[in-house]
Amino acid sequence: MPQQAEAAENVRVQYAKEVSTICTFCGVGCGIICHVQNGVVTNTEGDPDNPINEGALCSKGSSHYNISYVYDTKGKPVPNPNRLTKPLYRAPGSNKWEEKDWGWMLSEIAKRIKKTRDATFVATSGGVTVNRTPGISWLGSAFCTNEENYLFQKLARSIGIIDLDHCARL
Ligand code: SF4
Repeated sequence: MPQQAEAAENVRVQYAKEVSTICTFCGVGCGIICHVQNGVVTNTEGDPDNPINEGALCSKGSSHYNISYVYDTKGKPVPNPNRLTKPLYRAPGSNKWEEKDWGWMLSEIAKRIKKTRDATFVATSGGVTVNRTPGISWLGSAFCTNEENYLFQKLARSIGIIDLDHCARL
């Protein structure tokens, strides 16, 4: 590594707190270390202690730092203007996104799941108890850990959802 680049790298990790996380981009689930200074991510790199990737990252995983920062014309990192930091909602039929807080989002999701479940729940079919909710499909996320996805599928099954999958077929 050239001397100047090495010095810049040291500044980004020096005195930083290390937080381990999972890559958000695909179902492989590689481990990443985030270096954090004053609540700001200053560097990301592969986690050598993670048994899945042993420190290696593909080009997508290597670009994690750019979720938060991009480089200006002088090569200086500046906050990524395209990063979404708030939930966005688009009402049915609308062509506009509106910012909403998490409280509103979560209660709206819960209300709509309840309404659809109540409207489509099937208790029996051909005299057999089935307790299923065919009106809802459920997809897990590679943005979440195995444990979080386990809880998602548990919640989905508990309300009768049978159309259930994950991008990595967990
Ligand atoms: S680093 Fe690449 S292979 Fe690993 S989880 Fe991320 S996108 Fe997938």
